[in-house]
Amino acid sequence: MRFIKQLVEKYKNKTNSDRRQLLKFLLLPASTIFSVSYSNLVSANEVIAVRVWPSEDYTRITVETNNLLQASHILLQDPYRLVIDIPDLQLSPQLKELLNKVLPDNPHISKVRVGQFTENSIRIVFDLKQAIKPQVFSLYPISNYKYRLVFDLHSKDEEEDLITQILKPKAVENIPSISTRNNANLRENDPMKEWLNGGKSSQYSNRTSQDNNSPYANLRNKRLTLAIDPGHGGEDPGAIGANGVREKDVVLVIAKILANIASRYVRVILTRDADFFVPLNTRVLKARAAKADVFVSIHADAFTNTSARGSSVFALSEKGASSSLGRMLANMENNADIIGGVNYFHSKDTQRLLLGLSQDAQIRDSLRLGNMILNNISLINPLHKNKVEQAGFAVLKAPDIPSILVETAFISNFEEEQKLLSSHFKEKMAQAIWDGIRKFLRV
Ligand SMILES: [Zn+2]
Repeated sequence: MRFIKQLVEKYKNKTNSDRRQLLKFLLLPASTIFSVSYSNLVSANEVIAVRVWPSEDYTRITVETNNLLQASHILLQDPYRLVIDIPDLQLSPQLKELLNKVLPDNPHISKVRVGQFTENSIRIVFDLKQAIKPQVFSLYPISNYKYRLVFDLHSKDEEEDLITQILKPKAVENIPSISTRNNANLRENDPMKEWLNGGKSSQYSNRTSQDNNSPYANLRNKRLTLAIDPGHGGEDPGAIGANGVREKDVVLVIAKILANIASRYVRVILTRDADFFVPLNTRVLKARAAKADVFVSIHADAFTNTSARGSSVFALSEKGASSSLGRMLANMENNADIIGGVNYFHSKDTQRLLLGLSQDAQIRDSLRLGNMILNNISLINPLHKNKVEQAGFAVLKAPDIPSILVETAFISNFEEEQKLLSSHFKEKMAQAIWDGIRKFLRV
């Protein structure tokens, strides 16, 4: 009877039709009542959609549901399999769609099986092409999504790998006859000596134009790295225009054109080169692991006011920087052994101070870089504001890389959405961004 009381309580404030439904339920023979599950009557768990996002880094599978579900998983070897159990769920055509959505060229999954494991639970088995590091978790409703169960099949522990790369010093061993950073055999005014002695900051900020005439110029340029970060991706479409143009798609195209132009002069890395989601921290880690000299994040966001238009360039704000510092210090605490490998002779206070100084210098250089890019963009598109703006973008928080975020245009503005669709505009935008970066790097 307590069960029925709970039901009555639950339906007290419902509509007449809900009450009618309850009444119908109460009039059923007792044997029928107890064969109908409570969850089926009140709100049966349903799969709304299944999505698969393959990439070389990881494959993400998202099962979107109307209610919060928790899954458990086991990883098996010989052969590698990932087994996932989802309680309180029935097999449905939506869930079976998973079989069609895992394609033969998926880097991680060779085959998938979905079945009703027990009367009330689903079992999914992924046959794997390689050993993986799985992450299984649930997400609460956000944006256009309801609840999501997420299965991430990572090729490796990417974060650990990136941190290892970050802690490695920038390679100088390929430079002939130079094996240390303070080689006394170099001429006093030799730009290579400046490069070797100056550390990262002098690589991007203290160079003079005559450096380009140096016999070392090409050698050094090859060591300059541009990290290009196409915003959003995968489950995160970014902003969507009135005509359905998705930010994640247009920024990826602009990023690839920029990469193509820039790779003639410098080494280029893309934080993503396909349609998959990369967490903000991972974007920064990827740029730091590549020892990037410049980081540029490319976006085309929306604004509530559809008349807002024009391009803008952002650097990190001081306010944002201080909260990032807190986050970064927390990460350092969590990775004490790894961090100690780099800063082992500094006390925590010194580390804090050094990070603070580094962030200030980063913002100064980012503003200078941002201005150079903004000047070039002003030649091809109206500006939203006539100066580089600052905000607490998490993706701009690498303490040692000049980092800027370009809002190429407002996808929420009808005219600019059309521009973003045009190949000509995307090419001009990529060229303008590169012209600014090129001036900053003096390549
Ligand atoms: Zn964006």
